[in-house]
Amino acid sequence: MPSFLDDLSAAFDATTVLTGAGIEPRYHTDMAGVPVAPPLAVVRPRATEDVSKLLKLCHAARVPVTTQGGMTGLVRATLPQAGEIVLSTERMNAIEEVDTGGGVVIAQTGVPLQRLQERVGQDGFMFPLDLGARGSCTIGGNISTNAGGNRVIRYGMTRDLVLGLEAVLADGTVLRGVRKYIKNNTGIDLKQLFVGTEGTLGVITRAALRIFPAPAEQQVALCALASFDEVRALLDLARTRLGGDLTAFEVMWNEYYRLTTELVKGVAAPLPANHPFYVLIESSGSDAGRIRDDMEKMLAGALEDGIILDATIASSGAAAAAIWKIRDSSVELGRALGPAGVGFDVSLAIDRMEAFAKAVNDGLKKLDKDAYAIVFGHAGDGNLHVNAKYPPTVDRTEEVSKLVYGITGDFSGSISAEHGIGLLKRPYLELSRTAEEIETMRTLKRALDPHGILNPGRIFTV
Ligand SMILES: Cc1cc2nc3c(=O)[nH]c(=O)nc-3n(C[C@H](O)[C@H](O)[C@H](O)COP(=O)(O)OP(=O)(O)OC[C@H]3O[C@@H](n4cnc5c(N)ncnc54)[C@H](O)[C@@H]3O)c2cc1C
Repeated sequence: MPSFLDDLSAAFDATTVLTGAGIEPRYHTDMAGVPVAPPLAVVRPRATEDVSKLLKLCHAARVPVTTQGGMTGLVRATLPQAGEIVLSTERMNAIEEVDTGGGVVIAQTGVPLQRLQERVGQDGFMFPLDLGARGSCTIGGNISTNAGGNRVIRYGMTRDLVLGLEAVLADGTVLRGVRKYIKNNTGIDLKQLFVGTEGTLGVITRAALRIFPAPAEQQVALCALASFDEVRALLDLARTRLGGDLTAFEVMWNEYYRLTTELVKGVAAPLPANHPFYVLIESSGSDAGRIRDDMEKMLAGALEDGIILDATIASSGAAAAAIWKIRDSSVELGRALGPAGVGFDVSLAIDRMEAFAKAVNDGLKKLDKDAYAIVFGHAGDGNLHVNAKYPPTVDRTEEVSKLVYGITGDFSGSISAEHGIGLLKRPYLELSRTAEEIETMRTLKRALDPHGILNPGRIFTV
């Protein structure tokens, strides 16, 4: 492709286009840590106009492009495939405006999530999206994957936080839709084409996002429960008694809690590890006295009614962080248990979760008597994470994936609650979406990207 690379070099300055030895391994190595072959070139635009110019060239020359944000995605979507160039958003990292009166922040696509959180925090506001990869993941990556995280029960997914977007189509057309208001019934809501579509329909360049006054008080409690029916009863009670102050409701099956508190360094067990289920509840709001009172009364009622067996409320910020650390240590637990295993991120109706977890465990035991599932997740959002573990003697990635995704399909669940499809989960898409739905996705792709240059092969093939 020398002439295309010449065109790139002529169109941009030398710091924008990297080729050959100038391409660092990080541009072709993702979270899994195994590098693939380097791309033809890495292009690092600074502004929307650069993205438009780049895509015009790629569209004309039919050169495929993979867009990279923080590369923290877990579905192998950002790894360049043969013949692709990389569009890295790392230099599009300006926070342009924090409008506290309007409750809006406007940022370029490559701003890391944590930097945005900290910037609005300086003005007493919060951007509610939060996830473990906050230091590296970017706003554009969060929008493209419709990221979830810990506070979805109160604030919704990323989709619910996007007021307006600017995006560039495959042919270089710029859609300027950075608007600062919630209500806008003026035809098709085009920004939704780019939320959760993993960069297949356009490249996001700027966004207007909702921010909220930072809560003055936060209460975190850990409860022990005897059965999943009690977990559901506690969720009903928390929703009723805490209302809009409920900001997290996280469930952990016994194996997750027991093994994390036993094996992960620096994680302590505030409650004994012999109970079947544990739930972390967080509430937050501006009236400190009421937030504390409501949590205490709600838990006292739950104890009295036999919904919970035991509970502890964090008495300080450090104690709250220690409880959250149990729930946030899934990666460390996976490492402590050894490499043989596959992680899943599925959605299910809450009334099917217990039977689902049992079916997965039973299925794993049939494959290998020493295999087992560690289950935990955002129960209030219908989202479970399953870490299937097995002895390292045989690589069972494929058969375990087929098993768990198959059971997810049988339970009418979604094979991806948060992480997207990318390349990794593409073979299983039809377990969660109908043939007609997938064909409609292809129709949209063909209309917006007729030469198929944007993230080809991610989610589905055309
Ligand atoms: C420790 C850890 C914890 C995590 N926890 C969560 C969690 O709780 N919830 C959750 O939802 N996810 C979670 N993730 C997954 C991941 O962090 C999210 O998917 C995140 O939103 C990806 O952002 P990114 O900038 O790294 O995107 P990337 O990985 O760079 O890209 C992800 C996808 O978005 C596309 N893309 C990136 N930028 C753009 C753009 N500007 N325009 C168009 N397309 C673009 C890419 O092509 C790719 O398809 C976690 C990951 C890790 C490693």
